[in-house]
Amino acid sequence: MRRSHYLKHRELARFLVHQRVKYFSQVYQVTPGRISIRNQKTRWGSCSKRGNLNFNYKIVLLPTHLADYIIVHELCHLKEFNHSANFWNLVALTFSNYLEIRKELRETKIVYK
Ligand SMILES: [Zn+2]
Repeated sequence: MRRSHYLKHRELARFLVHQRVKYFSQVYQVTPGRISIRNQKTRWGSCSKRGNLNFNYKIVLLPTHLADYIIVHELCHLKEFNHSANFWNLVALTFSNYLEIRKELRETKIVYK
């Protein structure tokens, strides 16, 4: 059940993520490495030290502002590999309301359909 849900949404997730990564990479002047779409239980996204980005396929089921926040968050890690004040200042260039968005994201429950 979970596997078929993943396979059903993976390609759309890949398309959406690539579009938005391309856009925000220009905004932030960063060059990400490989982008992977994964079926993860607990994480929305991650950034490796090598600059490769992973995103949860369920990002495609989120409202646009939440999906964009996750993408901006991981792209900002290409400049600041931590959650320092500098990092959050970068995020705030796009999402000055990132505290609200993080709260909204924590409260989001994705339902399998
Ligand atoms: Zn982070």
